[in-house]
Amino acid sequence: MGGAFTRFKDFLLQDVQNEKETKDMAVLLRILSLIFSIYYLITGILTAFLQHYVLGLLLIGAIAMCIGCFILTYEDHTLTALILMNVILIAFSTLLTLYHGFSLCFELPIFLNILLIFFNKTAHMGAKRLYSIGLMIYLMFLSELSSILSLYTVPSDRFTLFFQTFNMFFFSLAIISTAYAYCVKFNQAEEKLRRINDNLERMANLDALTGLSNRRHMNEHLAGVVFEYNRSNKPFTMAIGDIDFFKKVNDSYGHDTGDFVLSTAAGIFKQFMKGKGYVARWGGEEFLFAFENMDMEKAYRYLDELRHTIEKTPMDFKEYHFNITMTFGCEEFNPRLGIEATINRADAKLYKGKQGGRNRVVK
Ligand code: GH3
Ligand code: MG
Ligand code: MG
Repeated sequence: MGGAFTRFKDFLLQDVQNEKETKDMAVLLRILSLIFSIYYLITGILTAFLQHYVLGLLLIGAIAMCIGCFILTYEDHTLTALILMNVILIAFSTLLTLYHGFSLCFELPIFLNILLIFFNKTAHMGAKRLYSIGLMIYLMFLSELSSILSLYTVPSDRFTLFFQTFNMFFFSLAIISTAYAYCVKFNQAEEKLRRINDNLERMANLDALTGLSNRRHMNEHLAGVVFEYNRSNKPFTMAIGDIDFFKKVNDSYGHDTGDFVLSTAAGIFKQFMKGKGYVARWGGEEFLFAFENMDMEKAYRYLDELRHTIEKTPMDFKEYHFNITMTFGCEEFNPRLGIEATINRADAKLYKGKQGGRNRVVK
């Protein structure tokens, strides 16, 4: 039983092949075709029971058209199916309303067409508005016409009440299905948009090779760090680290080995900076460190530890085995200088470190 239900559900939710058509519309039309097939079947039986055989026979035509609509959605003719569904609902609601009178709620399915036409993404907004207004006018015309004709073929109040309830039930079912489909479609679109946005934000903030923050994102982060400094007056220290003779790595072992070194080093930095501050790729083989809540002496000790770790880490890539070293320059943030000048001072110390023989931290 459960398996049959799952198979039926999968059958209903089957995707459309045509890229221009949406699955949501096809699935909704399939569900509505089923609902209205049952609706016209019961209405047909009741109509025949009331001895209106011609109308009963016509309703068999309605069922056949609903089945046609159902099949069309699997044949990649969703738009044709939508038009057919509109025709079915207008034609048979009109017929039933004129036959039984307006008070039995047989006109309700026409309202559904307004929702369906707005659900359809291929139609122009102007056409949708025009069609909706047309349907409104048509409904008013129908109510006038049925009151002029004043055909009330239902024998008793009990039948009237039954038809009203019956129509309300099926109309509600159709409205709920449509609203549910809208909701699913909307939620899916929103979720997709959120994922794309997250990805875009990550791409805008992160360096693709190392996965570290890029320069732009680091500048944003530093604005926050300076703001915090102004609030709490707790010191923080900036440092620039640069890989020594990195050009040689590229020249001797290839650019991809150079890339491997950069991402390996970045992984070490990221791990090392946890709880100490923030690190970003500042340029080619240069990295910027912000040691938060830390004066220069403490940051210096950490940097020297990091320098040591880098020096000891074996770089094994392809057939190459080698070690790298790094030179660092650090400077405690000085509010009189501002962040840019602080970084420039750290950079000047890095340069001094390079000239002094590399593989060192200059404070
Ligand atoms: P120094 O010790 O003075 O810093 O010498 P160096 O060779 O490290 O410095 P230099 O500035 O001469 O060379 C840096 C090299 O880094 C040049 C550039 O090709 C390389 N580089 C920059 N970005 C990347 C990258 O993303 N991948 C690779 N493989 N190399 C890069
Ligand atoms: Mg270098
Ligand atoms: Mg450099």
